[in-house]
Amino acid sequence: MTASTRLIDGFHLVVEALKANDVATMYGIVGIPVTDLARVAQASGIRYIGFRQEASAGNAAAAAGFLTGRPGVCLTTSGPGFLNGLPALANATANCFPMIQISGSSNRALVDLHRGDYQDIDQLNAARPFVKEAYRIGRVEDIGRGVARAIRTAASGRPGGVYLDIPGAVLGQAMEAAAGAETVWRVVDPAPRQLPAPEAVEHALRMLQQARRPLIVLGKGAAYAQADNVIREFVEASGIPFLPMSMAKGLLPDAHPQSVAAARSLAIARADVVLLVGARLNWLLAHGNSPQWSADAKFVQVDIAPSEFDSNQPIAAPLAGDIGSVMSALRDGVVAHPLTVSAEWTDELAERAAHNDAKMRERLAEDPHPMRFYNALGVIHAVLQENPDAYVVNEGANALDLARNVIGMAVPRHRLDTGTWGVMGIGMGYAIAAAVETGQPVVAIEGDSAFGFSGMEVETICRYRLPVTVVILNNGGVYRGDESPTGTDPAPTVLNAQAHHELIAEAFGGKGYHVTTPAELRSALSAAIGSRTPSVIDCELDPAAGVESGHLASLNPTSAAKPGKVSAGG
Ligand code: ADP
Repeated sequence: MTASTRLIDGFHLVVEALKANDVATMYGIVGIPVTDLARVAQASGIRYIGFRQEASAGNAAAAAGFLTGRPGVCLTTSGPGFLNGLPALANATANCFPMIQISGSSNRALVDLHRGDYQDIDQLNAARPFVKEAYRIGRVEDIGRGVARAIRTAASGRPGGVYLDIPGAVLGQAMEAAAGAETVWRVVDPAPRQLPAPEAVEHALRMLQQARRPLIVLGKGAAYAQADNVIREFVEASGIPFLPMSMAKGLLPDAHPQSVAAARSLAIARADVVLLVGARLNWLLAHGNSPQWSADAKFVQVDIAPSEFDSNQPIAAPLAGDIGSVMSALRDGVVAHPLTVSAEWTDELAERAAHNDAKMRERLAEDPHPMRFYNALGVIHAVLQENPDAYVVNEGANALDLARNVIGMAVPRHRLDTGTWGVMGIGMGYAIAAAVETGQPVVAIEGDSAFGFSGMEVETICRYRLPVTVVILNNGGVYRGDESPTGTDPAPTVLNAQAHHELIAEAFGGKGYHVTTPAELRSALSAAIGSRTPSVIDCELDPAAGVESGHLASLNPTSAAKPGKVSAGG
């Protein structure tokens, strides 16, 4: 190598490899040894969004993956920064969102002999149980390969989280620039189509044709697949009632005449043939068990991961393939041989839906003071209907359960929530990614407890001037805030019902609103969305509003010895 040989280092090669694969945004937190990686990325035109806690950066990358269908990238430091990001990477994997966490790591020679290096953790092995795949890049000339491998793995088949470990020493290594350029490549067709076998399609169609009470369940895999038109064509050509899982709401509008969201319990209890499209029969669907489901219901399942079939119930007609390809084959089948769905079944569902809708309207019309969840959510729903492009992020217990039912969605992939794990803390990360990736306004509907997990990211929202409005449904507690203490400290579920969360926005240059009535909420939310200014609305609710564990009370083992019942003898 002569003195005039042009060199390229690991930092620049990582950025070149990401750019070659159209990575336009990186979410992260800088520190040793990755600070220059963020600087080089920004200088080369990748947008770098810096967070206050790595979990939020990771959640943003995961949401970007869900919204775009391309892996979102999160950058963290070594050791604790890596560990902070890991729950988000695990959550992305649980939700089947494509994501890559790139972490710098410490000196292998010191880490592996437990010699006590700075932030020494065996990151590669620590990540493994939580991710789709974990890779480490050991040489500067493997950076292009490592990035390509991470992109391919995250996006293809069932999407998921990939951990990519890059030791600081590799980032600092240099090689001859022309040779380095040859080590970087663009992944061709990162998520290839996977066509279903024609006989599997025929079998599924026969089952649907013979069904007396067929039902389609659309899951977030169907939303992720970006096959909106073909899914709609199949649903409408078949005439089969459909039920959206929460993140599939809007794939077809909630107001669609075939939606049976308002008759959910009846639909699943009575359906005899169920077509699952990108939805797993996990706890969110009662594992397909009776009594929630009919004991002799038969399942047809569309999924890209064949190992998903039979995970809970026998799958009578497995359709392995990507949703776009499978649904177009099914659509062609029903167009060629139309199905008849009995009016008895659709009438039964419509009657129940009308009954439940009437009950809901009654609840929404009540106007108690202090406000309760339904009154606040009714207003939020009305304002969102006037802003159909707005993205909705939603987390909490009651704030999640009730918003899911009250807030109708009309557009695909506009609702992001706690997902497969029902995890808290995704709120601000998801909201930031939705605003960054789409440029549209975002409304995050948060329980006051849920907000606390990522609330400091309001500063991030303000720093980047993102059009995010955070509505905090503040009933002063985890579940609710009116529990009496048994000693001098507050009860375990109690937070501060007098909190003024809106001041957090004002601390960082955003706009804060404190509202106590539906009318105030309506005007604050309309103004906040319209202004596209970072805003926090503290919506003061009755601390007695809300139920313990939300809709999941059955999962909560209750103590036989309730406080006050424990005798001195134990
Ligand atoms: P929900 O929670 O909404 O019911 P899940 O996350 O349980 O949805 O299910 C999503 C399913 O979708 C996963 O089993 C995943 O393998 C599948 N999936 C994701 N993307 C695709 C795709 N492009 N084609 C087919 N199946 C997909």
